[in-house]
Amino acid sequence: MAQATGWLRHYYLLLSWPPGSRYLSAARRLPPSPSLANALPALFPKARTNPSFSLSATLSSSSSRPSSHTTNGTSADISVSLSEFHLHNTLTKRKEPFRPKVPGKVGMYVCGITAYDLSHIGHARVSVFFDVLYRYLKHLNYEVVYVRNFTDVDDKIIARANELGEDPLSLSSFYCDEFLSDMVHLNCLPPTVEPRVSTHMNEIINMIKQILDNGYAYIVDGDVYFSVDKFPLYGQLSGRRLEDNQPGQRVAVDSRKQNPADFALWKSSKHGEPYWESPWGPGRPGWHIECSAMSSVYLGHSFDIHGGGVDLVFPHHENEIAQSCAACKESNIGYWVHNGFVDVGSEKMSKSLGNFVTIRQVIDLYHPLALRLFLIGTHYRSTINYSKVQLEASSDRLYYIFQTLLDCENSLVQYSKDLTTASIPKDIADCINKFQVEFEKSLADDVHTPVALAMFSEPFEAYQ
Ligand SMILES: [Zn+2]
Repeated sequence: MAQATGWLRHYYLLLSWPPGSRYLSAARRLPPSPSLANALPALFPKARTNPSFSLSATLSSSSSRPSSHTTNGTSADISVSLSEFHLHNTLTKRKEPFRPKVPGKVGMYVCGITAYDLSHIGHARVSVFFDVLYRYLKHLNYEVVYVRNFTDVDDKIIARANELGEDPLSLSSFYCDEFLSDMVHLNCLPPTVEPRVSTHMNEIINMIKQILDNGYAYIVDGDVYFSVDKFPLYGQLSGRRLEDNQPGQRVAVDSRKQNPADFALWKSSKHGEPYWESPWGPGRPGWHIECSAMSSVYLGHSFDIHGGGVDLVFPHHENEIAQSCAACKESNIGYWVHNGFVDVGSEKMSKSLGNFVTIRQVIDLYHPLALRLFLIGTHYRSTINYSKVQLEASSDRLYYIFQTLLDCENSLVQYSKDLTTASIPKDIADCINKFQVEFEKSLADDVHTPVALAMFSEPFEAYQ
């Protein structure tokens, strides 16, 4: 029975068990889920307890690694060849073998939302993809520290709060909570830490001081700017050259800047804005510095994965590299990982373009996991075209999956005694083995979720 349900368990990795029962009769009949925090050890018990499963230790210590492992503790009949995990790195523009800096451990920082409105499905895509990556790394038995920040001090938040006549920090706190509620619906595991800018001012100010002391920044009228000319590697992530940033092409050229591409580390406060005291006068941080500072607090200057949506490659992540290296020479990120856009028609879904659909609007109409299935149905680096037709198709597919899983579980319960003692016929064992091998292979290939999902078609059809 354990072997036969092995592939069912794998589905948890991508979809996880439905937390409640909304809109789908099949979902309503499913048993309640274990708590999210306890889900993975329960699903992959051997990954936690069997030392021979320890992929991470073998990967990092030498090139020799287990050629196979059993997927359950009851039989050696079915084994899975593990493919080495390869992850695409935006910096090198290649898929690379995944080798963390510390054997068995992974540090991952993902840029979170700027909290001034309800989150849209572009934000859902970032969260769901990095949740799948987080679950997959845990499945590979890595000990993962996952940090996802909230930007709760920002121009957009201040502008929105002023419009509404509210306190900016109260407004952002409200939308942080709304985002967390969306994450529960989408069955995203909570990150290890979720730091906010407003509670890390000392660390941010200290990093700016360090950058100034090291000669990479300058002060003008209470503002602090990073000098891109001092950092010859500027542009390495995005491939942009400094000479591409011609004065006059930008929206507004600030004549106080030494180079138009210089960016603010600290902004002096204007009337009516929230501010914090600093050595350069009252003000608040520029957007980019927060992630350099907060990642170093929780993961150190050198860690494994830094990610976010592809729109963050430039300028946000380019500027982060410059700041972090300017503050600490040892700063180093192993893999820069970016997911693609969600488009509506031919345009990127964004708040600024006003063409966004909120997570809330979608899950009012569909089961939240239908949105999750829709998002992971496309490889994370490709663009997703949002359409109601596709969401409908994901919803139908989810219903089919739940119903099949439910029927399957009921059958297994009915015949559980026989299945525990009976040996698995060779053709079924071969089918399960093939499924698991291909499933592992597709996730090991740069988290190729569409292929992993497609793997379920054959066993589902066989069951039907
Ligand atoms: Zn960031």
